[in-house]
Amino acid sequence: MAVEKVIIIGSGPAGLTAALYTSRALLKPLMFEGEMPGGLLTTTTDVENYPGFPEGIMGPELMENMRKQAERFGTRFITQNVTKVDFKSRPFKVWVGDKLYESSTVIVSTGASSKMLGIPSEQTYWAKGVSTCATCDGAFFKNVPVAVIGGGDSAMEEANFLTRFASRVFIIHRRDSFRASKIMADRALKNPKVEPVWNSTVDEIFGDGKLVKGIRVKDVNTGATREIALEGVFVAIGHQPNSQLFKGQLDMTDVGYIKTKPHSSYTSVDGVFACGDLQDHVYRQAITAAGSGCMAAIDAERWLEAHGQ
Ligand code: NDP
Repeated sequence: MAVEKVIIIGSGPAGLTAALYTSRALLKPLMFEGEMPGGLLTTTTDVENYPGFPEGIMGPELMENMRKQAERFGTRFITQNVTKVDFKSRPFKVWVGDKLYESSTVIVSTGASSKMLGIPSEQTYWAKGVSTCATCDGAFFKNVPVAVIGGGDSAMEEANFLTRFASRVFIIHRRDSFRASKIMADRALKNPKVEPVWNSTVDEIFGDGKLVKGIRVKDVNTGATREIALEGVFVAIGHQPNSQLFKGQLDMTDVGYIKTKPHSSYTSVDGVFACGDLQDHVYRQAITAAGSGCMAAIDAERWLEAHGQ
């Protein structure tokens, strides 16, 4: 079996930037882009804060462009999920089912996923009114009330987007002020369709078994509950790193972010590099993910050179 020079796992801005740089360094990277390529940006609409696009760009289009750019220089793509890795010895091993791939270096960039509330009814009504992606599902909720849960920038973005379709958008937040940046919070609060529900959590999503019909919210100060009739529930309470694949292989924080050495993409395993949201719980931006993907590529390239490859 041919041993690859670089395998990249994950195809968000971090992975695709690592692919662009390693392919331009003639390392012919092999990227496992997963069954849902492109990462979290494919679930967003306008990206207004990625430099170089003065009018903004749609998230899916930005990711498609990044993929084409990496492909142009020779990145090879496998549109499957990696199921197992072994970083205990070199060459490193990566499996998709029974199929084994080997590589001198691996760049991991599997990103982060949406957090869920953890109440059973959220699963019962998943895709029957409960969603984590307004861009994907917002248009199903024309002229009906919906709720967004959370108080960060994601919640504001989802709420604003949903006002295009829904008759009313409740933002259910557990405190009395938003965590979101002021500009995003103001934009949401100024929208006449938006109604904040402060100091409240959702303790039940109910429906007719087929579709959501409402939620029960609880006042965190008084414990009082009340029901709100609506048809859509958008959970926007943050993210968790997709690091299960690397448990027992790479050092990670208590909540599962891969640990990297300061000012580098070096992980606890020499020759394995991490970038993007998988190792960054602080910035979590497309541009910082892309920047860290560039760092991982340069680190891998120098590592290969130092090891005579
Ligand atoms: P955040 O972690 O910033 O916010 C999560 C929100 O959900 C908080 O308000 C938090 O409440 C609330 N929350 C968390 N857990 C629960 C729970 N179990 N029940 C109820 N509420 C809960 O995540 P975001 O996804 O909003 O943002 C992540 C990062 O991405 C941020 O840095 C943000 O700035 C950035 N971002 C930027 C955008 C842009 O610039 N266009 C768009 C979207 C995100 P509490 O405040 O009480 O902790």
